[in-house]
Amino acid sequence: PITTLERTIRETQGARDAIEVADNGCVVHWFKSDLRLRDNRALSLAADKARGAGVPLICVYLVSPQDFVAHLMAPVRVDFVLRNLGDLKRRLGELDVPLYVETVQKRRDVPGRLVELCGSWGARHVFCNMEYEVDELRREEGLTRMCLQQGIDFTVVHDTCVVEPGLLTTAAGGQMSVYSPWHRKWCAWLKEHPELLAEFEAPGRNPPVVRERYGEVLETPIPEAPPEKSLTNEEKERYARLWPVGEDEAHARLQKFILERIKAYHTNRNLPAGDHTSSLSAHLAAGTLAARTVVREAFRASGLKTITDDRQNGHMMWIGEVAWRDFYKHVLCGWPYICMGVAFKPEYNNIEWEYDDEKFRAWETGRTGYPLIDAAMRQCHEQAYMHNRVRMCVASFLAKDLMIDWRMGERWFMEHLIDGDFASNNGGWGFSASCGVDPQPYFRIFNPILQSEKFDEAGDYIRRWVPELRDVKGKAIHDPYGRGAEALARLRGYPRMIVDHKVARERCLRRYKEGIGRS
Ligand code: FAD
Repeated sequence: PITTLERTIRETQGARDAIEVADNGCVVHWFKSDLRLRDNRALSLAADKARGAGVPLICVYLVSPQDFVAHLMAPVRVDFVLRNLGDLKRRLGELDVPLYVETVQKRRDVPGRLVELCGSWGARHVFCNMEYEVDELRREEGLTRMCLQQGIDFTVVHDTCVVEPGLLTTAAGGQMSVYSPWHRKWCAWLKEHPELLAEFEAPGRNPPVVRERYGEVLETPIPEAPPEKSLTNEEKERYARLWPVGEDEAHARLQKFILERIKAYHTNRNLPAGDHTSSLSAHLAAGTLAARTVVREAFRASGLKTITDDRQNGHMMWIGEVAWRDFYKHVLCGWPYICMGVAFKPEYNNIEWEYDDEKFRAWETGRTGYPLIDAAMRQCHEQAYMHNRVRMCVASFLAKDLMIDWRMGERWFMEHLIDGDFASNNGGWGFSASCGVDPQPYFRIFNPILQSEKFDEAGDYIRRWVPELRDVKGKAIHDPYGRGAEALARLRGYPRMIVDHKVARERCLRRYKEGIGRS
């Protein structure tokens, strides 16, 4: 789909370039997952166009409940998006830039409604940033043509990745599928093209005519979440406290992380207890912060001359993690079939999975009897977020210890995380279940107790999230029934392990070997 869209963009370029801004018209920016004013490529281009022609900039966001469902968006993520929209509308309002928000019930009606709105506002230019999921690429391809038929220039540009998909290729010109060499190329590309880190200018104030002409648009309220994606009042308050919205908040988080924690990121990043990572993923997913911005700021703060893959440097290590986000989006563009619920590696589609509801329920509720796994799942229920190390642990546990289809876990994550992002989530599950791009080998099976001892040595993370084990002393925290804290664990109602890791490991090796062998 991305090559089709790119071909359509090229083929229509001449005709679109010939379209002029109408007198008394306006220029439109269509917000999607780029809910920010600063460093937003398409918004900046739209503002530029409007300024050049002396017409207003109008922004639009079309709420599509079916999109929320199709993308398995967690209610907490829908709430985060809607709260951010409120902040965005307020900030744009300060510049007299209207943000028109409308709910379009059927996702297939979104393109038509966008074109209709442009018609009613006299807009002959619409700008937006590209999203790389298959449906979105197809939609934008259709929109390019549909707009042109109506005399509208629809401009869709790359923005969400630091280095756009398609530029870093193998010698044969194909998409790269192994992270390390890809990452070296990513660093080299940024060295050759430092302009890719330059900031896009935020829009300025609209001409005064806006208030008379688009007053109605200025007043549109932000809708409530659709019933199937709404939160309880208690949840709303909790998440509003935990995850404040807005790009100022996102920038403040970034600066605090750079000032206080990035330097030690390479040593502390794997420790789930404490505050060692940036917790910026929700903002990167909603687009309140651009990946380009965070890489630029971290690079600046590093004092280094170029970005490298030096894993002994906190700044570079962190930039390398942000690069994983680019990597998985590139992979999605290169192999769009991963959107269709199949493994990146076809031979991994033949593994025999268990569909054991009781075990899945134990996993999702944090009652597996493995303290680290349970702590992580309970953190997710409370905060809609999990640390990367424990994401890997719970994913590996579901797929390899329980032999439950990794796609059930992938889906559960999307439906519960505030930072749910198809490409990163699919990549993370593919890595952990060994079915994805550049995965850990299938015979590498995390031992959940060893992971716990290694990354939560003192048990602080477990004690925080598993209150039944709060009073367990010493190493027994990692395995209360096996290490002498049985009486306390039983008294407090903490469950016994639902599988024996050693036995589960053997079963997993057998099943993976058989599955791969069958293809
Ligand atoms: P930091 O450590 O501060 O990293 C900075 C940023 O780099 C992150 O915000 C994120 O945008 C990016 N990043 C870091 N690690 C990765 C990674 N392994 N893959 C891709 N991007 C990365 N991340 C999501 O944003 N959305 C998801 O839905 C998601 N699902 C995951 C599922 C599994 C099974 C696994 C193993 C990982 C998943 N990740 C996902 C990646 C990672 O766990 C989170 O991005 C990270 O924990 C967010 O915390 P942070 O912002 O403090 O990260």
